[in-house]
Amino acid sequence: MRIDRVRIVRIPLHLVAPLRTSAGDHTSRTATLVEVTADDGTVGWGENVAPEGSFYTGETAEVSYRHLRDVVVPALTADRDELDDDELEAEDMALASMPMAAHAFTSALADVEARQRGVSLAKALGGSAGNVRVGVVVGLHDEIDDTVAQCVARAAEGYTRVKVKIVPGTDVDTVREVRAALPPAVELHVDANGAYDPSEPGRLAFLDGFGVGLLEQPFGPREIRAHAALARTISTPVCLDESVPDFAAAVEAISAGACSVINVKPSRVGGFHSAVAILALCAKNGIGAWIGGMLESGIGRAGCLALATHPACTHTPDLSASDRYFLGDVTVPFVLVDGHIAVPEGPGLGVAPRQELLVAAGTSIETVFGR
Ligand code: MG
Repeated sequence: MRIDRVRIVRIPLHLVAPLRTSAGDHTSRTATLVEVTADDGTVGWGENVAPEGSFYTGETAEVSYRHLRDVVVPALTADRDELDDDELEAEDMALASMPMAAHAFTSALADVEARQRGVSLAKALGGSAGNVRVGVVVGLHDEIDDTVAQCVARAAEGYTRVKVKIVPGTDVDTVREVRAALPPAVELHVDANGAYDPSEPGRLAFLDGFGVGLLEQPFGPREIRAHAALARTISTPVCLDESVPDFAAAVEAISAGACSVINVKPSRVGGFHSAVAILALCAKNGIGAWIGGMLESGIGRAGCLALATHPACTHTPDLSASDRYFLGDVTVPFVLVDGHIAVPEGPGLGVAPRQELLVAAGTSIETVFGR
């Protein structure tokens, strides 16, 4: 494929509810999209989902945006045949250092290629069309009653899997009260985002008493041995998220027995290619897998939904309907029907940003390659 033009399109989005991070509460988020135009006129889209703060992997929106513009786009639009081995290796390291920026651009290329072939991205990634059963995440609240109310409201909307964030101190009461309030058929998962001390694994034993379907990332990203030790002592399945930034980390975690499930986020692992490789690795080793979300707009969400149709996905993904996050999405909204979201069937992503948003006053468009 020859690329004629690359543009970075930034569209402000208003959040339905403030997003709490270590840097404070945010009421808006800017969707950073990548538009790639091939020489045959085919246009593909990707999204850089790096968050405003450094609370997740340290790849923040501003740093990731600059890396996308100054490193990823020049590297991937250059003629790689003209580079020697050392230059290629340096380039690949630069791409791997900011996986969300790399995914933003390579996912736009994947969209172009699928559109050129006339196939859906789901099919291009090894999945299929159809509906995906989806789950929802409920963040931390000051009062457990508020967490419970949110979980109950989401179940009433039709979500059949709810994930709550847990921290030491309020965890036992949160899980007990949420479990008691949810209908029995609704699955409950918990995500600690590494909040627990690996020297006190016994603090998590209570989960076994509540039929929790999955415990995500109890310890810090590097605590592979601690996760393996915990996985041997509790019956609740241990799932890793932040501990798996790439394929090699997935191999290490699985061979150490650190998890029985992996949350695969294409933006965290540097792209669809890496995500599909990890999914295949999971399937080969009997490890469960599912697709996590990163507050994507409709562009990133469509890509994640396509990936969630891959046959190696055994668990419900964190890919909620657009109205869970935004007052208006950049694409036609994804809606929840009976706990499922329909995967777009058109070529490529099957969606694109709404035309009126591309010419709206708050939108910024920057050409970073071509004219
Ligand atoms: Mg997580």
